[in-house]
Amino acid sequence: MDYKITLNSNEVPKKWYNINADLPVELPMPKNSEGNDQISSLQKAFTKVGLEQEFSTERFIKIPKDVRKLYMQMGRPSPLFRATKLEEYLDTPAKIYYKREDTSPTGSHKLNSAIPQAYFAKKEGIERLTTETGAGQWGTALSLACNLLDLECTVYMVKVSFQQKPDRKSIMNIYNGNVFASPSENTKVGREILAQNPNHPGSLGVAISEAMEEALENEKVKYTLGSVLNHVMLHQTIIGQELKKQLEIAGEEPDIMIACAGGGSNFAGSLFPFIKDKIADKSDTQFIAVEPSACPTLTKGSYEYDFGDVNGFTPMLKMFTLGHDFVAPSVHAGGLRYHGMSPQVSLLTKEGYIEPRSAHQRDVFEAGITFARNEGVLPAPETTHAIKVAIDEALKCKQTGEEKTIVMNFSGHGMLDLKGYASYFEGSMPNSK
Ligand SMILES: *Cc1c(COP(=O)(O)O)cnc(C)c1O
Repeated sequence: MDYKITLNSNEVPKKWYNINADLPVELPMPKNSEGNDQISSLQKAFTKVGLEQEFSTERFIKIPKDVRKLYMQMGRPSPLFRATKLEEYLDTPAKIYYKREDTSPTGSHKLNSAIPQAYFAKKEGIERLTTETGAGQWGTALSLACNLLDLECTVYMVKVSFQQKPDRKSIMNIYNGNVFASPSENTKVGREILAQNPNHPGSLGVAISEAMEEALENEKVKYTLGSVLNHVMLHQTIIGQELKKQLEIAGEEPDIMIACAGGGSNFAGSLFPFIKDKIADKSDTQFIAVEPSACPTLTKGSYEYDFGDVNGFTPMLKMFTLGHDFVAPSVHAGGLRYHGMSPQVSLLTKEGYIEPRSAHQRDVFEAGITFARNEGVLPAPETTHAIKVAIDEALKCKQTGEEKTIVMNFSGHGMLDLKGYASYFEGSMPNSK
């Protein structure tokens, strides 16, 4: 038995997988809200290639040679581990595998999309990229990607995260990113929000509005998004394609596959290449997306058109949403705070291919600690949601005696999220309702 299944550098996939080609029903297009033209703004804010990929229906899209090289230089393919110590601890007949996106230099899967986005911008003559970041991982990945491709990078970081996570700001600075707490004084929207409420905690929606405003007002500046949109899901599919190969090497056919879901990108990236087979009726794997009960987009939201941001700068997307003015409670330390969800992940959930589940904050941190104590690796708070469900499913197998194969995407490490773990140990972490 292999404890660890690795691939060589040259086994990094040569193409991204585009699920638009295989969706069971057509994906509803973004639309303008009445009397507005956000679609034109979006076209101005994004790179050309990003937009092309957003609406492409080609099944496989070639990864440019230089992007593939950067993937390799940054350590891809990522390894697949078997969680044997955790299996022993749980005393389960189930097998648990985890795909290690935490081995990326920035600690999460986000670099998989940051690299191609920076690459395409550079090719189009852009000088600076802007973005928003919630917990900090996207801003960190984009800062590094921009630096590798000789671009400037401006990051709007949700104010509560900025205050709770000063280390995140430092790491972005190390990678040469400029970081501002959002709402900020840099932009019109930021100034308006601060005028109304100087203590506004910020939200991903507000940060998106600020980053987009900059791109709309300067030709050499483009806006990027680290999740939600189709082209981001596309870039992340290198995870799932590698994973497929690795599971073949291990001789495994997964019964259950699990990933956490904030905007949907690590879920989509790791699982779309497998969901493809389910759509084609060639697999009966169960796919579970896990979200916090404090931000229950897929489990309690409604499937309808809504803005991607708080100010209505973005077009309306058909997705599961809690409403674009939703702000997760600030005691929630588990990440995954976005009000909406990838339209592709939303559609596949609506159509019954994906089962959504929610988990409480204390329970996921407990699962994360159990994982760390057995496997050694400390998961990001987001990742602990997937772990919680993997453990639940493994314990069900213990009761039924089933030897299921459970595979989860380990989206990132938690070495910069120690404050969240500290509040768990202090007992100051409330359970979300
Ligand atoms: C950003 C992030 C997530 C959530 O975003 P998705 O787009 O849903 O993947 C999950 N885990 C980690 C470690 C992240 O950095």
